[in-house]
Amino acid sequence: MEVIKFSDLQIDERIKRAIEELGYEQPSPIQAQSIPTIIEGKDVIGQAQTGTGKTAAFSIPLLQKLDPQDRSLQAIILCPTRELAIQVSEEVRKLAKYMQGIKTLPVYGGQPIDRQIRALKGGVQVVIGTPGRVIDHINRKTLKLNNVKMVVLDEADEMLDMGFREDIETIVSNVPEERQTTFFSATMPKAILELTKKYQNDPVHIKVVRKELTVSNIKQFYIETRFSNRLEVLTRLIDVYNPKLTVVFTNTKKGADELVSNLQARGYGADSLHGDLKQVQRDIVMDKFRSGTIDILVATDVAARGIDIDDVECVINYELPQDEEYYVHRIGRTGRAGRDGIAFSFVFGREMRKLKDIERFTKSKVLKHTIPTVDDVEQKKVGQFFETVKATLEEGNFSRQLQWVEDFCNQEDFSIIDICAAIVKKTLGDEEKEEIKEEKSGDNRRKNKGTKSFETSRLFFNVGRNQRVEAKDIFGAIVGESGVKGKHIGNIDVYDKYSFVDVDKDKAKTVIDRMMNAKIKGNKLNIEKANKKARKKNKK
Ligand code: AMP
Repeated sequence: MEVIKFSDLQIDERIKRAIEELGYEQPSPIQAQSIPTIIEGKDVIGQAQTGTGKTAAFSIPLLQKLDPQDRSLQAIILCPTRELAIQVSEEVRKLAKYMQGIKTLPVYGGQPIDRQIRALKGGVQVVIGTPGRVIDHINRKTLKLNNVKMVVLDEADEMLDMGFREDIETIVSNVPEERQTTFFSATMPKAILELTKKYQNDPVHIKVVRKELTVSNIKQFYIETRFSNRLEVLTRLIDVYNPKLTVVFTNTKKGADELVSNLQARGYGADSLHGDLKQVQRDIVMDKFRSGTIDILVATDVAARGIDIDDVECVINYELPQDEEYYVHRIGRTGRAGRDGIAFSFVFGREMRKLKDIERFTKSKVLKHTIPTVDDVEQKKVGQFFETVKATLEEGNFSRQLQWVEDFCNQEDFSIIDICAAIVKKTLGDEEKEEIKEEKSGDNRRKNKGTKSFETSRLFFNVGRNQRVEAKDIFGAIVGESGVKGKHIGNIDVYDKYSFVDVDKDKAKTVIDRMMNAKIKGNKLNIEKANKKARKKNKK
């Protein structure tokens, strides 16, 4: 894999600072190719799925090309759904954090148009919107396209599937010809190619080509677990499997450092390895790992290249990597020198799809593994403890200790068994742990897509961080007010002004009916279904 760093790319220092803050360590493959090409001014067709870092792949060069002095609308990003528009807009906002004078706005159906009009009047350079609402604004002359220099079609295939072709054509053909046009799409059906022919100018087709790589001697498992439970699941896996050396992968350096602190706080010998460390520091960490002074190395993909140690028995993907090829590189840190290795990947919700892509790419099966139970961990610990006791007994040579026990038994009236049990309790501790409660994530919880959902419905709540509302408040309110049980509630994504909540589709109506006009932190609720029908209705 060719190594490209963000510092190699011709991007503004202020954007680099934001990238640094987001903890992105290196451009994902789609970013490494798209960013310089778009900056160069070429039209691009990017073939990339969700989860590959495609949003930043077009947002970074888009921001780079903006003129902050110019208050007029300069770029439009079209997205198929309200959820995606919000998500993309959040990412653009984060990337533009240090670019003073840049204003961005998501526009989508379902939100009062007056508010959007007011915001647009204030001068917005980047609009991220669903086609229907963008057309609406064009018709009302609240969006003027005469100065737009860049159009991005995100998830273009999805937009066509949803019947937005006409709207897209209307919008794109109203933007001056000297624009730059970028398409991002997971698939490239004929209809997309027709559109690119019609609206793009000699586009560069970017698709990440991958080499075949083999992972045959590595047992691969996945564990379905929410992010919030992953630390606990990780420690249980390590306790149960007790690997000699483990490499845990995170997607960001921030994530790596946080995980290391958490592991150290729980008494695990862990350290991190990522691109922020100087070569000397890396060498120190690697020496500690090689010699077993620490047995858990938490690494990012950048650092992974240097890890070539035969004793790594286990690799854990704390998060799935952005690219299938990274997956192979990651798990290839184990099973070296002809040995067997074991790899676990933590997944939840939409990551299940990525896992399917990985299986296809590696032509291997990743098997489901259950979360080790408290009992599994305990059995293992107790088993290991008695193994060491047995070894000490066989070794003999404990006459001093024998004397102490004898003295104690003579003074006190306890049975030998009770005394042993007390010593075990004192040594191993007696913390009663609770089992982890994980609701089934299913494969349909696609965080950023509003496509037909088979098991869950996504609901829009009009409260968010600005009202100091957190996921737990929404969860508590649903359980308390609607009587719908926690197990029927899925992902809760809280944004500044609103939140999205996945609920069992059979319970969605109950939640809406019973919670309408209820309050969270004093804010009257307005809840709507965020499904395809609602979008169509809003499309007008
Ligand atoms: P996307 O494919 O745009 O939906 O991005 C998937 C996830 O990857 C998002 O949570 C991004 O914040 C994250 N991401 C994007 N680029 C990078 C990067 N270079 N390194 C690490 N994470 C990234």
